[in-house]
Amino acid sequence: MELWYTEKQNDNLALSYRVRETLHVEQTPFQHLAVLDTIPFGRMLVLDGIVQTAVVDEFIYHEMIAHVPLNTHPAPRRVLIIGGGDGGTLREVVKHPGVEKVTQVEIDARVIEVSRQFLPELSCSFDDPKAEVVIGDGIKYVAEHRDTFDVVIIDSTDPVGPAVGLFSREFYTSLYACLREDGLFVAQTESPYFHSDLVARIQNDVGEIFGLARVYWACIPTYPGGMWSFTLGSKKYDPLDAPVERMPAYPTRYYTPAVHRACFAMPRFLEERFK
Ligand code: SAM
Repeated sequence: MELWYTEKQNDNLALSYRVRETLHVEQTPFQHLAVLDTIPFGRMLVLDGIVQTAVVDEFIYHEMIAHVPLNTHPAPRRVLIIGGGDGGTLREVVKHPGVEKVTQVEIDARVIEVSRQFLPELSCSFDDPKAEVVIGDGIKYVAEHRDTFDVVIIDSTDPVGPAVGLFSREFYTSLYACLREDGLFVAQTESPYFHSDLVARIQNDVGEIFGLARVYWACIPTYPGGMWSFTLGSKKYDPLDAPVERMPAYPTRYYTPAVHRACFAMPRFLEERFK
């Protein structure tokens, strides 16, 4: 018998993965959580029926959400991750030798616990001496901290449920206050192909609040359409001017200095949408 998992994008589009085994299923207080062992992409974390990450291609998303902002800031010491319960972003952040402390605020403890059990390749840094894990709402945490972080990384679910507020103008205003005077942040901002209105709205809000907002992208096979966007808001440093040739030496599989520069280039149909 063949087992298939289908992620329904909308009424007219779905993506299907052949499943070797269902490893875990539960309803947490926040969301439906599953870990599937898929044939094409290996073990996959699925929240509310949406693929979050898969062991075969996760390096692309996690390297791009971590190293682009961390190599844009000349000396990131204090880093905040919001969401990211699988641990992949944390694993990349602790590679930076100058980072002294990484605080991760994840609303759902079960995502971390289940990732520790089934996704050790991603969750391997939760016990790193630089890491501090806080279980709580990232929106509340940001509102309660002022002038604290050099870099904030929003590694959230899609803008539904507890993540809705993470895509709001009010939250970006609160983030501005939470960052130090030369701080910057990055957020995953969905598919530029399917959600260009959302990306354009976010870039506009972030640009008005921070002064600088740059959209970049990467190709991630398990996300709808493949092309995925990130939006970086910065008080001072421009990622296009970052001296990436002098980036610290640590292993990556996707991110390189050339990729850092290239990821901000937009194809014509998006250049007309994003500034
Ligand atoms: N890479 C993924 C993607 O783009 O699909 C996101 C991965 S990570 C698993 C997303 C995490 O954000 C989830 O574990 C979810 O519980 C967490 N999350 C959602 N809203 C949150 C909030 N308001 N505060 C903190 N964490 C939140």
